[in-house]
Amino acid sequence: MSSRGDKFKASLDDGRSVWLEGKPIASVSEHAEFKGTLNTIGKLFNMMDDPQERDKAGYLVPETGKYAHSSFLVPYSQEELDKRSRSFAHWSSATNGMMSRLSDYARSMVTGWYAARDQLSELDPQFAHKISAYYEHARDNDLFLTTAIIDPQIDRSSGLDDKRIAERFLHVVRETSEGIVVRGAKMIATGAPYTHDFVIFSFLQFQSEHRKHAHVLIVPANSPGLHIVCRESFHHPNERNHPLSSRYDEMDAVLFFDDVLIPWERVLLYGDSEKVLALRANKTANGLAFHQNVVRFVAKLEFITGVSFAVAEAIGVTGFLHIQEKLGELLTQIDVIKALVIAAETQAKPDASGVLVPDLQYVETARSLGTKYYPRAVEILQQVGAGGFVQTPSDAEDFYGPISKLMHQYFEGASVSAEKKVELFKLAWDLIGSPLGARHLLYEKFYAGDPIRGLANHYNRFDKGSLTDPIWKLLKENSKGKSPAI
Ligand SMILES: Cc1cc2nc3c(=O)[nH]c(=O)nc-3n(C[C@H](O)[C@H](O)[C@H](O)COP(=O)(O)OP(=O)(O)OC[C@H]3O[C@@H](n4cnc5c(N)ncnc54)[C@H](O)[C@@H]3O)c2cc1C
Repeated sequence: MSSRGDKFKASLDDGRSVWLEGKPIASVSEHAEFKGTLNTIGKLFNMMDDPQERDKAGYLVPETGKYAHSSFLVPYSQEELDKRSRSFAHWSSATNGMMSRLSDYARSMVTGWYAARDQLSELDPQFAHKISAYYEHARDNDLFLTTAIIDPQIDRSSGLDDKRIAERFLHVVRETSEGIVVRGAKMIATGAPYTHDFVIFSFLQFQSEHRKHAHVLIVPANSPGLHIVCRESFHHPNERNHPLSSRYDEMDAVLFFDDVLIPWERVLLYGDSEKVLALRANKTANGLAFHQNVVRFVAKLEFITGVSFAVAEAIGVTGFLHIQEKLGELLTQIDVIKALVIAAETQAKPDASGVLVPDLQYVETARSLGTKYYPRAVEILQQVGAGGFVQTPSDAEDFYGPISKLMHQYFEGASVSAEKKVELFKLAWDLIGSPLGARHLLYEKFYAGDPIRGLANHYNRFDKGSLTDPIWKLLKENSKGKSPAI
């Protein structure tokens, strides 16, 4: 019997239209650029059938008697919320925090909508039935999911009143008895070539006349007319020299919808921007999904911190005060994000259906801090290793060639052999200097949306009087003290 990982890989050759370097990909499962990543994901899927691993990553679904990933677990108790958290941490640490969209994020969004279906039924009477059927289907078939929310970056100064924009943003061109036919594009969908279904929703707050642009959809990757257009691959076949790029290239893609039929049962909402916004803002779904983001981020910070420590030790710079200060700063980053995860979990509150939802404020704060922490962590690692990242031979083979003796002599580290030091610096360069590393820096800055508008929204939504009232009060008392007349 084939493993879950093998089944996952085989399921991707389902007629989907995936484009890389101007060519359609005949078999995603066999394509050299995806092999490393798919092997990594396959191993994670196999955990669900491994008695040593399955309780760390998954849970036994009472209705089916089979294990599913804990992102599908609806948490009604602290114990169940902890189980979700541990499963995110387990998958994240298995990939050193380098794979962010292992589907546990989008699965959590679907789980949240399912968990809150009774409240969300007021948006559409069909919602509860549709989301329940889809949630069970996704859970019981190990579906890999990703989100694609953002509209194509054509002209951000213009909106839907501009025909050029309206035509290109995803919209309904026809309604039929079977469903709606949509046209337009979406970006960015991480993991797109090897996802089963896309969770798609409109992002902008549209005017009511733009109802054809308002929707929440679940779209199978092999839908006729859907094209998945990949960015350049950052995969590298050489595991020894590129330990991260060879395993963890989560492909990003743009989706073209060339008149794609979305069956009514996969149209969760359509035609009402207010309702789409209400679903998007649902605290149960966002709390469960964003929680995964920050648990995963802890693993990434631990990884880059570990690499920074190892680099510092390898070249004997740990004794310098300013290096110690910077390595200490990395530890505080981990502590702050971990503390926010703990706060979000311990302050979790039941929603109207009794679902225990992590505190969104703490989770959002951690996501915002992450956009600044990761670039700073990369900067610190650069400061620690300095020119060492480019003082490595092109290939470790040189250690066995005619200049072997000199190689061992001149690449030697303070505390490690020349070979180990070169391996370490190649790993570090893959993390911060390779195309994959550059993509990760961009990812951490933007995956949660525009960080600038995110923080500005935080300010705009905040009850400012709670902080300014005491100031005005103090000044009033102060001025009273100065004025003997009062
Ligand atoms: C590696 C990577 C992976 C991603 N994966 C996913 C994914 O799987 N699913 C998904 O849905 N999304 C994904 N995203 C997309 C991400 O959500 C967006 O990049 C993010 O929301 C920012 O939008 P944008 O890239 O269109 O930037 P834009 O909105 O085009 O912004 C460009 C610049 O203009 C400024 N700007 C634009 N409009 C305004 C405005 N109205 N007011 C003020 N300033 C403005 C911004 O601050 C920014 O500096 C991913 C992004 C990256 C980088």
